[in-house]
Amino acid sequence: MRISQLVSKTQREIPAEADTPSHQLLVRAGMISQVAAGIYNYHPLAWRSLRKIENIIREEVDRAGGQEVYMPTLQPLELWQKSGRDQAFGTTLPAFLTKDRREHPLVLAPTHEECVTEIVVRNVHSYRDLPVNLYQLQNKFRDEARPRAGLIRVREFIMLDAYSFDKDQAGQDINYQLMVQAYKNIYARCGLKSIMVEADSGAIGGKDSHEFMAPAETGEDTILICPKCGYAANAEKAVFTRTKMADQALLPIEEVATPGKKTIEEVAGFLGVPPERTLKAVFYIADGRFIFVVIRGDLPVNEIKLSHALKAKELRMASEAEVVEQGIVPGAASPVGIRGIRIIADDSVETAANLVAGGNKPDTHLKNVNYRRDFQADMVADIALAKVGDACAKCGAVLETVRGIEIGHIFKLGTLYSEKLGAYFTDESGNPQIITMGCYGIGVGRLLAAVIEQCHDDKGIIWPMTVAPYQVHLAALFVDDPRVMEAAGKLYSELQDAGVEVLFDDRAESPGVKFNDADLIGIPLRITVSPRNLDNDSVEVKWRTEKKAQLLPLTGIVESIKKMAADGLKQ
Ligand SMILES: [Zn+2]
Repeated sequence: MRISQLVSKTQREIPAEADTPSHQLLVRAGMISQVAAGIYNYHPLAWRSLRKIENIIREEVDRAGGQEVYMPTLQPLELWQKSGRDQAFGTTLPAFLTKDRREHPLVLAPTHEECVTEIVVRNVHSYRDLPVNLYQLQNKFRDEARPRAGLIRVREFIMLDAYSFDKDQAGQDINYQLMVQAYKNIYARCGLKSIMVEADSGAIGGKDSHEFMAPAETGEDTILICPKCGYAANAEKAVFTRTKMADQALLPIEEVATPGKKTIEEVAGFLGVPPERTLKAVFYIADGRFIFVVIRGDLPVNEIKLSHALKAKELRMASEAEVVEQGIVPGAASPVGIRGIRIIADDSVETAANLVAGGNKPDTHLKNVNYRRDFQADMVADIALAKVGDACAKCGAVLETVRGIEIGHIFKLGTLYSEKLGAYFTDESGNPQIITMGCYGIGVGRLLAAVIEQCHDDKGIIWPMTVAPYQVHLAALFVDDPRVMEAAGKLYSELQDAGVEVLFDDRAESPGVKFNDADLIGIPLRITVSPRNLDNDSVEVKWRTEKKAQLLPLTGIVESIKKMAADGLKQ
């Protein structure tokens, strides 16, 4: 491709709306442009990279036994009513709803479990037909509340979604492991570092779930990692061992005045106790019902764990007015003496002794409050958010945190959808059995952005050879010198004949502009043809990852470059 003919142009200015490296670099390198919030055009360079990523995905999922299909984006709402997931639209599953000319309700599909299960219902009848793994690379639509970071969180995107169907859990476990390996291969071949972590299964549902995270400072997920035993989990899901409090004899409850002290820090400081010796009260509305949450004062509430514990579809903090309406005194609330309100306690509350809690009247707190003796909860559960410094639940070592971009999510769905959509098979004895299902997703555009988040410097993108838009960036300097254009033009066609992908900078720009653009676009190998080097019958060759260039003789240059590009593909 000649840059003089390339439709998109590079830009020096950092776009005002872009706050992550991948967003800035994709726009500056002329690879994408925004159509509306979270909706993008992919220009030729980005589209070439994206297709390479798709092909890597195809090869690896095929190797894991996948069969590629294509399912429609536009689906009748009835399909979603069968699974009951139409109820999740707008709350946990952001979907676009529309109507056809006959007022028939349609969905722009955010995912395809329902549709793929229908294929299986019609085609799989016997145990001999199983296992099956169906996948597609197809557009998805999600009505995200806050599209952000360029291609990281968008409303329309291309996704790999694969679905496995098995006779039983043992079969599902095998398919799951095959897909785990496929995912690891995909990321490695795209030049991405990834971590597999235990995850929350969210709106998709199911039992077991893992995410793949690309470590990056700009990632919106927090991952907790144990450096000793390798435990890794999304903070939404991570478990940890509560610090053990020294055993204490239960002391009599005692009322103390705490004028003007409301927060845990204020009360703890005023009474001279550490925050872990206090009881924190937090109030939520879960599916319209008021919930009184108690947790040890040093621990944050994990709202995802809490909504699972409550099996709530919608969870939000209660407003101060809603708290007061329940007869509770904000800033001095405790479960002691509370009647008729649902109380949920974190595990930490059960094992702590002699805590400071609210006195349920203004400017008053209680010392030596103890679970069981002084109050009971309707439910005790793990509802605390793990953070750096907490103890690993498996080995006790201190947990560390990493920021990450979610680049893949896999789920063991069990029989959740098969039951609702009637996916059965006949077993060896002729009895009907329910099919066990798994699903596996990768956002392809987000994967592209994650590669850039991990592979860039202050000058621009540093593409891994496997997913670079082109393998070689050929820069001709001083194009008004006929020797330069003759030599560069010859090299351009000979390299292409040898199967090397070349982006040819044939523009009449200064060397400075050309080198800056080459660094910004980030093609792995740069070849520079200049009058001075031609005087020595040579060209300059430089890897994007290295500072120094090398001079190579023109004789045999095509073979040398072809070998360098091939070596780059193997890394
Ligand atoms: Zn551990």
